[in-house]
Amino acid sequence: MALRVKALESLLVEKGLVDPAALDAIVDHFETKVGPRNGARVVARAWTDPAFKARLLADANAAIAELGYTGGQGDHMVVVENTAQRRNLVVCTLCSCYPWPVLGLPPVWYKSAPYRSRAVIDPRGVIAEFGTPVGNDVEVQVWDSTAEIRYLVLPQRPAGTDALSEEVLAALVTRDGMIGTASL
Ligand code: FE
Repeated sequence: MALRVKALESLLVEKGLVDPAALDAIVDHFETKVGPRNGARVVARAWTDPAFKARLLADANAAIAELGYTGGQGDHMVVVENTAQRRNLVVCTLCSCYPWPVLGLPPVWYKSAPYRSRAVIDPRGVIAEFGTPVGNDVEVQVWDSTAEIRYLVLPQRPAGTDALSEEVLAALVTRDGMIGTASL
């Protein structure tokens, strides 16, 4: 795969169709500026600022843009909140749609056929396999992403974290927690 990508890149550069500096800028963007740390900061802000959380749940794109996270593959994002009664799980059954501005590029398993089918057939089983099973008293809601609408899970703030700063809270949040396969 690496060789194929290199060959394709060389050809495109040779024919003058792409600028190598532009490719470097794109790679740097996805390596250092876009990724789940962005989403974690959104979650931590929602945990510490009730007004922000209300804006986030009402209009995710506008609230997320307040933190400076915008861009393609996230034109219409929706934030769904985990509660004591409900756990949310995100999938794209058709392909691999994912909110890039807040989570970066999707993990390989998110794009796999087994995850895409089992997340809807047996969401409880999938979540249990990821290590944080949900109780029978908790409803599991599955959200099927599309190219138009991409979902971000707002995990529950852990108990006993009242004294923690927003920055420390953000470090607790994982990519899988924001997809819903993990609880945090
Ligand atoms: Fe998709």
